[in-house]
Amino acid sequence: MNERINNKIKKKYLSFNLALTVFLVLATNSFAQSSETRKMDFGENGNQIHFDMDLESGKMYVSAIYTNGEINGTSFLLNRDFIITKIQYDGKELKIDEIKKIILIDDYEIAQYNLPDFEQYIYIEYTGVLSGTTGIAPYVREKITPEFTYLRWETFFHPFFTNATSEEELLEDFSQPYLYNLQITVNVPHDHIAAFGHNDVQQVNNLDKVSFITSGNLPFSSIAIAIAEYQKMELQTGDYYFLKSTNTQKALDIIDPTMTYAYKFMSRHFGEMKLKGKLRAIEIPRGLGGFGITETHTTFIENGVLNSNLNMGHLVHEFIHLGWNAKTSDYIVQRARFFDEAFTSYFEFRVMEDLLGEDVAKKYIGNFHNTRGLELVPIKDFGKYEYGNLSYTIGALFLFELSQLLRVDVFDEVTTKFLQKYRDTPVNFDLFCTFYIDQTTNPELEGFFHRWIYTNEYSDTIH
Ligand SMILES: [Zn+2]
Repeated sequence: MNERINNKIKKKYLSFNLALTVFLVLATNSFAQSSETRKMDFGENGNQIHFDMDLESGKMYVSAIYTNGEINGTSFLLNRDFIITKIQYDGKELKIDEIKKIILIDDYEIAQYNLPDFEQYIYIEYTGVLSGTTGIAPYVREKITPEFTYLRWETFFHPFFTNATSEEELLEDFSQPYLYNLQITVNVPHDHIAAFGHNDVQQVNNLDKVSFITSGNLPFSSIAIAIAEYQKMELQTGDYYFLKSTNTQKALDIIDPTMTYAYKFMSRHFGEMKLKGKLRAIEIPRGLGGFGITETHTTFIENGVLNSNLNMGHLVHEFIHLGWNAKTSDYIVQRARFFDEAFTSYFEFRVMEDLLGEDVAKKYIGNFHNTRGLELVPIKDFGKYEYGNLSYTIGALFLFELSQLLRVDVFDEVTTKFLQKYRDTPVNFDLFCTFYIDQTTNPELEGFFHRWIYTNEYSDTIH
């Protein structure tokens, strides 16, 4: 795996998050059956993609329509093993051989299709087989099987539209929160569930299959779909999708009390909060790569992780995001990830320390010293340099040091007030510093903030 892509991907997972506006796709009719009527059908429906999953044969049959004005791209990328059976634009057929080429992104081969200028729409039909070897990242061992199917962006399982003309620009494109209206329909056999990272998914039972239809949008690289005979459990703390082989009672005996504990701990120390939604945890087989979508509080979590409360930090973390984050509105402040990820990582540590004791706490503090290979810049500049990843470690370490300086009980009290005030009113670094200084009148605080937030003098203490 090339280091460059790896870093791009890491960057995405850890810091890729914008407060996304959810564009509601207009109510749609599904595609009509023949391509002749499909042309006329798209109307105001925006972009749509339909996956017919033939799990037994390991294939999917896909048809997609993209309307002009809703997408932006002179070409699209697609998994190299997929066979396009038809591309039409504005009623005209395109010769696939003439527009297709194989490009290399580092050592990853991918098919690129150049598009003509089109007035109304592009219609694409293709068949996909996933061999387990075409994913851009080594942990994506994708296969379509009745037991488990995982569709992730790294396999380019649906078209990625781009204007990029070079490899560099493409890599840049992958880390953009690129978003377009796209309604996704996945058809699976009965007994199967398609579990999405999307928040609103409608289930429609048909005679021969079950359809899962999304509304609302996610960026290209946040689209992930896991298909299995899931056992879905809806609890107060979240919705959980367990694999068929999982003993749900055993799993819930660990998860539910832990999440309830987390809720109580957070309420007691940092104020009672109305949660912004529900956690969604989707179990996937071991070794396939867990993955979180912050925008929708969804986590794809490897089998086994949920069997021990030692590993619950991950879920606790996502849960805390639902209630105990201050609001930001400025883009650069948001990209610092301080007010969401530093706080949440620190809170996760507090819950896990309380739950599991000192040894676990030490591990967390050790991890907080990880610089993630990034240059240590002032915390307020994390956003400017796109170093939001540092908020998970250095940002959390800063809050830990702050709590030591103020005393933990004082820190908790001030932080409770801080979250109350800035939960719905946008905050920034100056407001943050002023608030803690005013509330505590600690003479050392100004110098402390200077060393961590406004300069990188703190870096002397990180090894
Ligand atoms: Zn987080």
